[in-house]
Amino acid sequence: MNMSEPAQFKTEALRGELSFDADMRLHTSWRAGGKAQRMYRPADLADLQVFLRQLPEGEALLAVGLGSNLLVRDGGFRGTVLLMHGALNELRMDGNLIYVQAGVAGAKLARFAAANQFCGAEFFVGIPGTLGGMLAMNAGCYGSETWQKVQRVQVLTRGGELLERNAGEYEIAYRHVALRNTSEEFFAAAWLQLETGDVDAARREIKLLMEKRSASQPLQQPNAGSVFRNPEGGHAAKLIEGCGLKGKSIGGAQVSAKHANFIVNTGDATAADIENLINAVQATVLQQTGIELHPEVRIIGDMK
Ligand SMILES: Cc1cc2nc3c(=O)[nH]c(=O)nc-3n(C[C@H](O)[C@H](O)[C@H](O)COP(=O)(O)OP(=O)(O)OC[C@H]3O[C@@H](n4cnc5c(N)ncnc54)[C@H](O)[C@@H]3O)c2cc1C
Repeated sequence: MNMSEPAQFKTEALRGELSFDADMRLHTSWRAGGKAQRMYRPADLADLQVFLRQLPEGEALLAVGLGSNLLVRDGGFRGTVLLMHGALNELRMDGNLIYVQAGVAGAKLARFAAANQFCGAEFFVGIPGTLGGMLAMNAGCYGSETWQKVQRVQVLTRGGELLERNAGEYEIAYRHVALRNTSEEFFAAAWLQLETGDVDAARREIKLLMEKRSASQPLQQPNAGSVFRNPEGGHAAKLIEGCGLKGKSIGGAQVSAKHANFIVNTGDATAADIENLINAVQATVLQQTGIELHPEVRIIGDMK
């Protein structure tokens, strides 16, 4: 597919960067996959609103943070990627709440919270995504989840309208978030409510969590964190390891020897290698244990 197409956008009023045939390997932590037909990195929230207001009807949109939970197939994404990281970056106190925009990374948020005498945001430090991606996934670890900390969110509609929604308007579960009345909206920001507490302890916890992660996860090789959701009452990694799949590879994709629920790119993996390995792991685990694993990673785009 030739991704280059004449711009249908009225670019004169825009302050951000519009690009074409954007290589999604540069915007996903797996460092694999195809191109996005168009990509827009807004200058700020107001600029993103202007962009959305003049969007051609029917244009497919995909919000992307740090791409740390995303596989874009080798045939690419027909539509526009909205790049939030490096764009929606505001992070400040708002009364006793933290106002954080969708493009802010987890580690920055955790450190900002500790610096402002708050506890309970330490877990964000090890999640290499943005607030927007963490809201979309209800990302979490070590017993904490993103939405436990959310008082309300600011969302953008497809038409560029900015709205506020309370956490109660969403259906929230393990790695699952949905608006009760489904519609196409993007997370622009959130107000987080945290407890004040022993900040030195929070800082120590941040350090400890980082060390724990580098001891147990293959952080030197491109990956997307846990590939599968944990099944009810079990651990995907244990099941995969129990089936003898550690080290199994297809093309440049390999089940990590360090953490069985991680698939690493050993250098030249295509998105198809990764997806085929996901499917192979799923089939073997089902065959050997009767348990069906479901991917946590989002897979989008066209096959080549
Ligand atoms: C080494 C490693 C460790 C990890 N550890 C954890 C962990 O402990 N716990 C955990 O939960 N996850 C973990 N992950 C997975 C990943 O970091 C999280 O899912 C994170 O929330 C993804 O954020 P992102 O900004 O990279 O989202 P992306 O990968 O860019 O996007 C993920 C999904 O969110 C959507 N999205 C992104 N931004 C927005 C927005 N503003 N509005 C609406 N939708 C949006 C995208 O369209 C996509 O569907 C890990 C990943 C890696 C690589």
